[in-house]
Amino acid sequence: MMDELAVAMKAREFIGKCGPLALPVSVDAYAAQVGGVVKREVLQEHEDAWSFRTPTGKYRICVNCTHNGRRQRFSVCHEVAHEVLGIAADHSAPSWSFSRRPPGEIACDVFAAELLLPYKLFKPRVDAADMGFAAIGDLADEFDASLMSTGSRFATFSRELCAFVLSEGGRVRYTARSASMRSAKAWVRPGMDLPPDSLSARVRSGAIPSGPEPAEPDQWFEDWERDGSLFEDARHLGAWDQTLTLLWFEDEDLPPPRPERKQWEEETYGLRELDGELPWPGRSKRRR
Ligand SMILES: [Zn+2]
Repeated sequence: MMDELAVAMKAREFIGKCGPLALPVSVDAYAAQVGGVVKREVLQEHEDAWSFRTPTGKYRICVNCTHNGRRQRFSVCHEVAHEVLGIAADHSAPSWSFSRRPPGEIACDVFAAELLLPYKLFKPRVDAADMGFAAIGDLADEFDASLMSTGSRFATFSRELCAFVLSEGGRVRYTARSASMRSAKAWVRPGMDLPPDSLSARVRSGAIPSGPEPAEPDQWFEDWERDGSLFEDARHLGAWDQTLTLLWFEDEDLPPPRPERKQWEEETYGLRELDGELPWPGRSKRRR
């Protein structure tokens, strides 16, 4: 299994070969770079795409035209990743099931996110954006990418103290944190329930989100003992019972953490967070 940072670097190298980038990026141009043609076909509901090399050397990518356009764009990039990384497809588990995602598929998702939201174009916009899903929604429109991919990369690249949390069925599945949030040791425990009175929990129950709200840091972060004004914004995707949460501190900087905390975190969870990571957790992340 390839390291996720290595995958992200390969993707950036690949983008470099594809010539100048326009927004939104052309996924057909990415496909063409590997001799690929994209065919839009009706596939089974759970199937995103599949691809094969024809006898004449074309790389044919068949993408499910019944899915929404943004999901199709991601799927095309994912199939390009299989070809560039030389990873055989394992599409037996549905792509939206985070718990059953094989490592090779996670690598292709990381690669696809880089292609769809290229660092060079995305990072300056993140730096200029306001916090919250209004801005993330605008970026998702501009890049023609899903709110989930955009939100995850928004937090990862943010200069602020910021985290993006993905929950399924009301339980936290994945968190992407900015560099400053990581050094503040703000840790959202995977598997925890959404805090009962939080904006995220209410949005999941059908409340219409009306914008960011103050939130309680100790309800979100493990062993949180510090001050700081936390804000929360949330969106709910009913079709998959997925809740997207953005958390950020308004304070310029938080007091430094207790020194033993980092070691605890790494020993307990063994997680690494890297540039360009996508929300597809799996056992492969448990490494030392
Ligand atoms: Zn795949």
